[in-house]
Amino acid sequence: LNEFELIRHFFQHPCHDNAVRLGVGDDAAVIAPSPGHELAVSTDTMNEGRHFFADVPPASLGHKNLAVNLSDMAAMGATPRWALLAGSLAHNDTDWLTAFSAGFFALADRYHVALVGGDTTRGATSFTLTILGEAPTGQAITRSGARVDDDIWVSGQLGDAALALAAMNKQIILPQQTLNGLRQRLEMPEPRVELGIHLRGIATAALDISDGLSGDLAHILDASHVGARIHLVDLPRSQTLNDFLNSNQALALNCLLAGGDDYELCFTAPPSKRTQIDTIAQSLAIPLTRIGEITDGKMLHVINENGEQINHLPRAFDHFAND
Ligand code: ADP
Ligand code: MG
Repeated sequence: LNEFELIRHFFQHPCHDNAVRLGVGDDAAVIAPSPGHELAVSTDTMNEGRHFFADVPPASLGHKNLAVNLSDMAAMGATPRWALLAGSLAHNDTDWLTAFSAGFFALADRYHVALVGGDTTRGATSFTLTILGEAPTGQAITRSGARVDDDIWVSGQLGDAALALAAMNKQIILPQQTLNGLRQRLEMPEPRVELGIHLRGIATAALDISDGLSGDLAHILDASHVGARIHLVDLPRSQTLNDFLNSNQALALNCLLAGGDDYELCFTAPPSKRTQIDTIAQSLAIPLTRIGEITDGKMLHVINENGEQINHLPRAFDHFAND
């Protein structure tokens, strides 16, 4: 397959979106944004060896490459609409590309996201996806709106993706069946797109947890000029992770507070919104848990099961932390 056959075969996909006036195949795509809306635009790169193992199932990789970007749209309260994919490929293995493309478009179709363009080059395997979403003018949810006494909420459960990674790196040993379940969380994250949209007008601030709760929540605190107190006992977690809180507390804390790749949403909202948020949780069948509150000051305090402050918080993932 040459470059153009490859693009046509694996990345040109039927599009039923009238807003896409021109998709893959010209020098640029032409799209017509919805009146009364603003565009939310974001991009994310995944490099082999850094963000995924070389032998990761390609369908999972296609899914995750889009999922992490959908998660950014969710965090903004934006409806994801259009994507551009810049792929650097070490090979043109058609079985691999077929699976990658199937994983990608299964998720794209689910959220009616159209792939409108991209770039295809040869090189070390790497995918950079750019996503465009829409939110009604003025309604995108930022990191800067948290206010003192707001509740802090998270969706789903925290730390399972990091636990899977620890097992895959042989730091811990898990029964095969348990590991398979956790690997789903690492390799096939489910972006909280509907939740983000429902949180417009309710959440005062939001982000998605990609680098670990404590580091990511700190971004909200910085942007909003506030502090926070969160309670370890309230952090939602799987039974498997909970068991590690007894047997290997350092690891469990690390997964819960600094584990990357969860792609859950963390958001703040005034206590007056609790009933509305509980209703959203029920209607979407997504667990939403209150884990603490916004305080004045600038610090994040994590309180343990004895009511004491945990002093040395595990650090969030940082690509350049050791430079
Ligand atoms: P140009 O040389 O004008 O930059 P390309 O030859 O790189 O265009 O790409 C041809 C068309 O295919 C363009 O419309 C581009 O957006 C699209 N395209 C290239 N690679 C991909 C990809 N991986 N996924 C989706 N569309 C792609
Ligand atoms: Mg090009």
